[in-house]
Amino acid sequence: MLSILTAIQNVALQYPHRTAYQTNNDSLTYEELWHLSDRVAQYLMGLDLERQLPIVVYGHMSPMQIVAFLGAVKAGHPYVPVDSSTPSERLQLIIEASQACLLLKTETLNTHLSVPVVTVSDVVAQTANIATESTTWVQDQEIHYIIYTSGSTGKPKGVQITANNLAHFVDWMHEHFPLQESGVFLNQAPYSFDLSVMDLYPALVSGQTLYAITQEQIANPKSLFDSLATSGIRVWTSTPSFAKMCLMNKEWHQELMPALDTFLFCGEVLPISVVKELMQRFPQASIYNLYGPTETTVAVSYVEVTTELIEQFDQLPIAPISEPNLSLLEDGEIIISGPTVSAGYLGAPDLTLKAFPLIGDQRIYKTGDIGYARDGYLFFSGRKDFQVKLHGYRLEIEEIEKQIGNHPPVSSCVVIPILKDDEIVSLSAYVVLREPLLDSAFKMTKQLKALLSDYLPSYMIPKTFKYIDTIPLNTNGKVDRTGLAVMETV
Ligand code: AMP
Repeated sequence: MLSILTAIQNVALQYPHRTAYQTNNDSLTYEELWHLSDRVAQYLMGLDLERQLPIVVYGHMSPMQIVAFLGAVKAGHPYVPVDSSTPSERLQLIIEASQACLLLKTETLNTHLSVPVVTVSDVVAQTANIATESTTWVQDQEIHYIIYTSGSTGKPKGVQITANNLAHFVDWMHEHFPLQESGVFLNQAPYSFDLSVMDLYPALVSGQTLYAITQEQIANPKSLFDSLATSGIRVWTSTPSFAKMCLMNKEWHQELMPALDTFLFCGEVLPISVVKELMQRFPQASIYNLYGPTETTVAVSYVEVTTELIEQFDQLPIAPISEPNLSLLEDGEIIISGPTVSAGYLGAPDLTLKAFPLIGDQRIYKTGDIGYARDGYLFFSGRKDFQVKLHGYRLEIEEIEKQIGNHPPVSSCVVIPILKDDEIVSLSAYVVLREPLLDSAFKMTKQLKALLSDYLPSYMIPKTFKYIDTIPLNTNGKVDRTGLAVMETV
């Protein structure tokens, strides 16, 4: 089976000066990536840490983050990527839950944490250039990375991906998509989301260039489209939400990005309206709808979106029915089997057993997604629980409710997703306070939002807060979420 590190090493030896990573103001060749990551590995090995202890890598789209990722796995440690938009209390929670022993950073971090914090560029400046032996590298069933995702218990949960999981995923990507031809890959998703893995490793093992864009650029359309125009991007990986945002700019079309010939979408429903617009604007490009959760290594199935397909259905399928690793339980839940099923949630054996049961002698992952089969394809039709996607971000409504409930003025709380044209566009919190409101609701909301911003990333903080006397219950005595959702539409 493919060894990710051996493949990257081969590229570094054969094409040392080729660009591995490019941003609008920084770049890294394969030779630099290989040698600098050896230095990080030497530094870590010098610390004499227990093998496989996680290392947190904190930053945002910097080439030095990739150096740190490879350095960690070369020294036998999994890395935990944490984007610098993560609030400090959540970062500390992740450090505690992962029992990480060190944080490597590429951005300023002005918070006191329970582990030593070291800057990646200082590490590489201070450490000798000595190659690591492949025997020290993370391998086989060992953990390569751990990605933290929202958890319904109120705390994020760490999905552990092994070297084998990742190798199988990258093999699958190369087998099914036109990725080998030389070209530039868009790197849009921050590394704390596993969508980033869809371009990161497939690009690096085949010696391609990653073109990373930052949140700051995304917030500034002129800078974003200037970068896209000069990027030479051939393979576009993003959430449908990001493409939808780009489509709002009339200049985003094939003439701006003449090399673009492959769109890989994953992470949420790909609306047919988005596909139709893309087909018009990028007539040379193929469009793929990929499906899969972090727990089974990024993606496990796909369909190529053709004009026939969008004429035949009013919703896009996520897989052909023949897809061997996907099946439906009797209640319609989609389960996933195969070599990319994660080793489970770090330090959470009960959660792991529940989500990754044995069926026969096979460990499977219960996705919580509901699906149905029709005309030879599998379709996604919603969730069994309160996990939602908002602008492409995965979040558990219960985690938000628990965090809001942790703050003293709050007695109880329910969070409702707000829909527009069948798509979640924002969140609304219904809050019962312990004491009647003394001040204005506006002030209370401001106070609650400020408190929450230490614990939750901004996309998890509800847009509106409404103060009510009691949480309404339905006839079964459960929280009447449907009733509240209806109130939102009136
Ligand atoms: P994440 O772990 O962030 O990748 O989120 C995984 C979840 O995103 C899945 O369990 C689905 O609910 C949803 N998802 C992923 N891909 C698709 C897709 N192509 N269509 C619809 N939902 C998707």
